[in-house]
Amino acid sequence: MEQGVEVSCPACGETTAVYVDWEDGQDELETDCQVCCHPIHVQVQMNAGRVVNTAVGNEW
Ligand SMILES: [Zn+2]
Repeated sequence: MEQGVEVSCPACGETTAVYVDWEDGQDELETDCQVCCHPIHVQVQMNAGRVVNTAVGNEW
């Protein structure tokens, strides 16, 4: 199921939302900040259909 997660942009600090179709486990994706267009690398960990951890970084 698709779920939205809010992450903080490492470049400008603004919150931006990413939407992913995922299952339990860890997923990674690239998105662009909606405010400054900086590419953001997002790692998300899911358990039982809920987000348990997120991490963001610059483009790797
Ligand atoms: Zn930004």
